[in-house]
Amino acid sequence: MDYHSPASFVEASALAANATGITRFLAGGTDVLVQLRSDLVTPDTLIDIKKINGVRDITRNADGSWTLGVAATGAEMSEHPELGRDWPGVVEAMDLIGSTQVQGRATLTGNLCNGSPAADSVPAMVAAGVTVTVTGPDGARELAVEDIPTGPGKTALAKGELISAVNIPARGANGGDAYLRFIPRTEMDIAVVGVGVNLRLDGDKIIEARVSLGAVAPTVLLVEDCAKAIIGTTLDEVALDALATAASAACNPIDDKRGTIEFRTEVAGVLAKRTAKIAYARAKGEHA
Ligand SMILES: Cc1cc2nc3c(=O)[nH]c(=O)nc-3n(C[C@H](O)[C@H](O)[C@H](O)COP(=O)(O)OP(=O)(O)OC[C@H]3O[C@@H](n4cnc5c(N)ncnc54)[C@H](O)[C@@H]3O)c2cc1C
Repeated sequence: MDYHSPASFVEASALAANATGITRFLAGGTDVLVQLRSDLVTPDTLIDIKKINGVRDITRNADGSWTLGVAATGAEMSEHPELGRDWPGVVEAMDLIGSTQVQGRATLTGNLCNGSPAADSVPAMVAAGVTVTVTGPDGARELAVEDIPTGPGKTALAKGELISAVNIPARGANGGDAYLRFIPRTEMDIAVVGVGVNLRLDGDKIIEARVSLGAVAPTVLLVEDCAKAIIGTTLDEVALDALATAASAACNPIDDKRGTIEFRTEVAGVLAKRTAKIAYARAKGEHA
């Protein structure tokens, strides 16, 4: 196995573009090294991106948006004094990943690029409208998070491309987000269903919303019908029921030992309601 630790994303991209066989980028390594040690995936080329300048930075930009380095860990996100105030849903989704040890390594980018349909941070990022900067042989481009996963274990990144930054929009006024997942245990488990909700209010009325579902289809879903069900409402019981119906209708889950199709479909509706209530309370400035 060839191990590289490039000093720039352009260098990392060139290494990946010229590599043959299986290439992996090493961020936290909590997927890559587990897959390696269990003989699931043995990369021919391992490109460690942690030596690149600024990859651990968490920066609030002048317009209120955020730029996160691709090696910023879950622990660093949770410990940041302001990020969680703006985007509690994104931070709590990342915080659900693994144990304290895993939190010290795991990254948003690794969670996204591992391509698991059940990845916890991905629905929260999609609901928040997060984009990623992708550096490749032809330069840089920006993609929405929902456009990255293309199937279990697969992404839209071409050979030689890697994510070089995570861009979270400005929170703006009267907004709130939340993420909830269902797991059979209390922690250290894979989501059977995950729901991210991000919304904005004018007074008591919802004027913008994004609702995303995880673990109920081959890739994360951004469900427009869920957003439509609650926009223009005060999240009353009628709106919540319409939200749950839209969430269940969007599901196309697998049937496995961790949850049947019927169970996942039902739980998506229940969780969508609960998540929306938390996001709504946060948008109103209430502690939730
Ligand atoms: C004990 C344990 C518990 C876990 N619990 C959960 C959980 O509850 N929820 C959950 O969602 N996950 C969980 N995971 C999985 C894992 O921790 C997460 O997916 C984590 O966020 C991966 O991030 P990483 O930085 O460690 O990725 P890495 O292992 O470094 O990389 C993962 C993948 O992303 C690619 N990659 C990394 N960086 C880039 C980049 N910049 N550009 C392009 N591709 C890149 C790599 O090539 C690789 O394919 C758990 C893992 C363990 C070991």
